[in-house]
Amino acid sequence: MENKNNKKIDEFIKNEKQIEGKLKCSKCNGKMVSCAFGTFMCEDCGNTISMDNKEMEKIVKETEIRGYATSIEHIATKAFNCKRYDIGGIIDQDVIQYEPLMVIFSTLTFILANANETIKNKILNFIENNSTLSKLSIKEILNSDNGKEQIEHIINIFSEITEDFKKNI
Ligand SMILES: [Zn+2]
Repeated sequence: MENKNNKKIDEFIKNEKQIEGKLKCSKCNGKMVSCAFGTFMCEDCGNTISMDNKEMEKIVKETEIRGYATSIEHIATKAFNCKRYDIGGIIDQDVIQYEPLMVIFSTLTFILANANETIKNKILNFIENNSTLSKLSIKEILNSDNGKEQIEHIINIFSEITEDFKKNI
């Protein structure tokens, strides 16, 4: 019983640490810092909020998803910038959160047209290997088996291909 409680407390502290500094004050947009168990206070205006572990877990998850979406956004933006191509609203964190592979595949398809054979093959393999994930959101990928490894692997390969492409144009 005691062990179980300790584990819960460890989780609680871990979640608390992870969201510390990422929380913004709802009143003044200032930085919220942890001031007591599950309570955060705004550095600027003193506004406080308290959360239980479930609420903190939800924020940790959302922060994680946003982090992955931001990485994809940066890679895609860089890939398109190098050709000064305007693709409007596709490269947007909200779109990426719900359809990450759609944005990645669009970027790679664009690159494909100007890529050498090696990169072309890498792109085609990548699309083939990940086509089953094309309709999933980042959240859904994270909730599947080895979801975290999968999304990180996808982002790494995506980054690798776009870097290779830029070196070769
Ligand atoms: Zn504030």
